[in-house]
Amino acid sequence: MTSGVLDPGLSDKLRQLGAFDAERCMSCGICTAICPMGISTLPRRVMRLAALGLEDEVRAQREAIFSCLLCRACEVSCPAGVHIADNVRLLRSWLLRGEL
Ligand code: SF4
Ligand code: SF4
Repeated sequence: MTSGVLDPGLSDKLRQLGAFDAERCMSCGICTAICPMGISTLPRRVMRLAALGLEDEVRAQREAIFSCLLCRACEVSCPAGVHIADNVRLLRSWLLRGEL
């Protein structure tokens, strides 16, 4: 069970920063299995949390979001064509803006 801030408009906010498309994620888990960082929360969990607007939960994944290598190894196998690395970049921008 999750708690904290739920912002249904989070995806729209992220789209104002760029081409955010995490809503396409089917949560299949292929990307997480492939990620060379072995980051258990990336990218599947973060994509779903962001798409669902679970703002506090996304913020709690800050370390994982900034640990991503942006290598795109996950993207090439994503059956939904999610632009995972670009989404991670947008999440970083959004997190940093919240700290300004
Ligand atoms: S591979 Fe694509 S569809 Fe599957 S969990 Fe990862 S981002 Fe979502
Ligand atoms: S782009 Fe990031 S999340 Fe995707 S495989 Fe590379 S390190 Fe992992």
